[in-house]
Amino acid sequence: MRIVLLGAPGAGKGTQCKNIVVEYGLGHLSSGDILRRNRSDGTELGKKAQSYMDAGDLVPDEIIIEMMSEAVEQASAAGFILDGFPRTVTQAVELDKSLADDGAIDAVLNLKIDESVVEARMTGRRSCPKCGAVYHVENLKPQSEGLCDHDGAELVQRPDDTPEVVANRLETYHRQTEPLVDYYRKNGVVFDIKADRDPDEVKACVFEKLQTLVKQ
Ligand code: AMP
Repeated sequence: MRIVLLGAPGAGKGTQCKNIVVEYGLGHLSSGDILRRNRSDGTELGKKAQSYMDAGDLVPDEIIIEMMSEAVEQASAAGFILDGFPRTVTQAVELDKSLADDGAIDAVLNLKIDESVVEARMTGRRSCPKCGAVYHVENLKPQSEGLCDHDGAELVQRPDDTPEVVANRLETYHRQTEPLVDYYRKNGVVFDIKADRDPDEVKACVFEKLQTLVKQ
């Protein structure tokens, strides 16, 4: 199964991907995670991406397309879920070309969420720099304030989760990524999912949609 997960930053894409990966054994291909790993490893790619990420702008298409083509090539035989890629129509067209010989995307899950919810979610988000676990200052507090439950590391706010950068990321999403929903709708594979509710309810809805594909 090949799935693309769309949704504004903060819509819960990462959380839902983890559920899907566990249930369906797919590879989780997160462009944001790959970029952050490159940054912390100090690679050339990480250095090139840094200023764009910190400002909440998109990293140029050619860099992302090369990076994600490699990830897709190495993906698990069971299939993959793309999280954060494609984010522009150019990226989607290139993805379709690279998959052409091998079958297309089976489904696009479009997580829909109100902007005010996104702002509160993202600016309150804290993560563990060691293991990547994600918390929230109001809704998902760690057992000891400011420390990761798994390894005790001090939690940090992603530099691109500050209010100014969040505003730019949302604007970038509307301008550059939302047109993708129509691009995929032309192929009739988009499932709209209401994402401003409890993550377990979103999960149930996602699984219900995916089961329809499995049965086909
Ligand atoms: P994310 O964790 O998916 O929100 O991604 C964090 C940042 O990485 C984004 O704000 C962009 O700067 C960059 N990024 C991730 N995926 C892409 C993509 N497909 N195209 C361009 N930039 C991306």
